[in-house]
Amino acid sequence: MSHPFRKKWGQNFLRDPNTITKIINCLQPCASDTILEIGPGDGALTSELNKQSDHIHVVEIDPLLVAQLEKYNYSNVVIHRADFLDWDLSHLPKGFKIIGNLPYYISSPILFKLLAWHNWERMLLMFQKELAQRIVSKHGNKSYGRISVMCQVYCDVNIEFMVSKNVFRPKPEVDSAVLTFFPKNNDLPDFSAFSKLVKQAFSQRRKKLKNNLPEAYKLGKIEKWADSRPEEISPHEFIQIYKVIFVG
Ligand code: SAM
Repeated sequence: MSHPFRKKWGQNFLRDPNTITKIINCLQPCASDTILEIGPGDGALTSELNKQSDHIHVVEIDPLLVAQLEKYNYSNVVIHRADFLDWDLSHLPKGFKIIGNLPYYISSPILFKLLAWHNWERMLLMFQKELAQRIVSKHGNKSYGRISVMCQVYCDVNIEFMVSKNVFRPKPEVDSAVLTFFPKNNDLPDFSAFSKLVKQAFSQRRKKLKNNLPEAYKLGKIEKWADSRPEEISPHEFIQIYKVIFVG
């Protein structure tokens, strides 16, 4: 391939057919599904997905890659040249599926955007291994943080398998992991308010909750957790904290 790799856009392309098949199988695409692919690159996943699903949307920022994808003349793939962070998801039908070997430099903002949307049925995303471990980390661990709470409150999330850095070109510095996300539906906190609360709770990791949430503490709402550090509080307890603060 003659494409000049753009490091600034996190371009590491999959080059191993077995890994590609394994990833696609995890998504379990059906012909009738609408599928969104984030960052299709030169089509490593798209060219396989295209055989299994009739309605595919891909969002790619690099105009050179968009031009290359257009040459394939896929009949069932709509190619959008856009920055995914600015792209409007509202025209996709409820229950769509998502796939992406995400550009590492904006993996977290992309994930937060998708969590906030929450209108999809299943999501299969590849992250650098360290971020994947933070996403699934349990409270009490060093790697547990804001992103763990947000993902585990709004989704059931699992690491499916690890992917060696050797199957990408150019080769990244670290291995990756493939994660599946299924949205939870019951009695979820308002995303925007909950997100702000968790961000504030983790604003100083080493401080106790009474220091990070001083207003709620002064109002006597978080007595139970006042002397805990944010990393000691489970996702379920964060929902309880949200409820005592916002619901009463
Ligand atoms: N899916 C391909 C594969 O697995 O071989 C490429 C994956 S590569 C890790 C990430 C892709 O995301 C690149 O094609 C890059 O140009 C694209 N990308 C980077 N930033 C983006 C953004 N903000 N919006 C949409 N695509 C982006």
